[in-house]
Amino acid sequence: MPRFQTLRGMRDFLPEDLQKRRQIENTIRSLFKLYGYEEIATPIIESMQLLTAKAGDEIRHRMYSFPDLGKREVALRPEMTASVARLVVNHLRYSPKPLRLGYVSNCFRYDEPQQGRYREFWQGGFELFGSTRPEADAETLIIADQLMRILGFQNYEIKVSHIGILRAVLEQEGVDERTQNEALLFMDRGEYENLIALVQDYVSEECINVSRQLFDIRTDDVNKALDRGRKLLQNYEKALQSLENLGSIINILRDSEADIPLTINLGFGRGLEYYTGMVFEVFVPDLGIALNGGGRYDRLIEVFGGEPTPAVGCAPGIDRIVLAMEKKRLFKEETRGPKVLVIPLEDELQGQALRVAEKLRKKGFRTEVEVTGRGLKKALSFASNAKYTHAVIVGLRELSRDSATVRNLARNEQTEVKIDTIQDQLERD
Ligand code: AMP
Repeated sequence: MPRFQTLRGMRDFLPEDLQKRRQIENTIRSLFKLYGYEEIATPIIESMQLLTAKAGDEIRHRMYSFPDLGKREVALRPEMTASVARLVVNHLRYSPKPLRLGYVSNCFRYDEPQQGRYREFWQGGFELFGSTRPEADAETLIIADQLMRILGFQNYEIKVSHIGILRAVLEQEGVDERTQNEALLFMDRGEYENLIALVQDYVSEECINVSRQLFDIRTDDVNKALDRGRKLLQNYEKALQSLENLGSIINILRDSEADIPLTINLGFGRGLEYYTGMVFEVFVPDLGIALNGGGRYDRLIEVFGGEPTPAVGCAPGIDRIVLAMEKKRLFKEETRGPKVLVIPLEDELQGQALRVAEKLRKKGFRTEVEVTGRGLKKALSFASNAKYTHAVIVGLRELSRDSATVRNLARNEQTEVKIDTIQDQLERD
């Protein structure tokens, strides 16, 4: 047989890798609790139709899709929002709003593997259903910001924009929705000239001018950005409303004293077609890929047959956050308590060793038993190398006194201790 490897773009997680992932997952889950998001889970496989309904071309072409044995077209989920929206329509349609749901899930995209881009990756998610109001958008941005802070990032940027602005400009110029979607995809990729080429036969000279200048608005001086936007959009009423919506979100954040490192960048979009309002991405210096992304999607629930239900949310990319934390050395060496190896001195004492180990586990100590039958000297040397803190040596003589020998492996000291009090000795040490 050949020696098998993981498929391209897929990864095994060794203990230290998984520990890092879990640390971020745990932080995300702690935010679920703090902000009232209830965790849900959905199947890894969904129907193609659901996943492609509003995904956007970028993702549509990168799906792991196949007919199942019942000849249904299915795919591994490339993202979670469609599944969560389906879940809401199927189960929580009439539950009181707002509804806050969270998840931590793996997703699959047939991306070209590179740093921070894998074919199986993990996303956390916060989705808030049932509010069109800017404070809901502000909440999502605060959560995205808090996640970065709690993980220890000091230098990061949250780039915000509003999909409604360009859409409304193009709509007023009579550009159909499909072409708008294509235009937004070009914007997502930063391909502004392609965007202009796509629409220039349908739109006015003014529209092209305004669009070009809009794409140029990129600054952390949010007031200046909003003022420039207002001037540019004075003849585009609906687009102006979208800009003012972005302004309201930013005002609320300012009043909340959240102190989020925002930059307005009106030349940025998001690849997913379902966005309708504010969109954002989180970046750190020296890593040109978004660590988190999200925004408002007010029509997705309706698309899947639910009542009109506005929604806003975000999906932190766990793998990329791991990468950024490694680069910035933000993972701290975990301080663990005692790690104990129980060593029976003779074969006949194996049962006794298991009994002592079980007593320690009941007290919450990480305890392993020597199971390879090696002698004391070898077992102790293994324990020292493998970073155990203590060995508990179970011998006949000590057992007759209800005792065992507890050896501190760092100090190379040992004492005889009553079995019932080993835990006190470990705690003291
Ligand atoms: P999206 O669903 O495209 O908005 O992505 C949400 C987040 O998931 C992004 O901000 C990334 O951090 C992460 N992400 C998306 N695609 C990948 C990928 N191929 N590999 C790793 N992380 C990804």
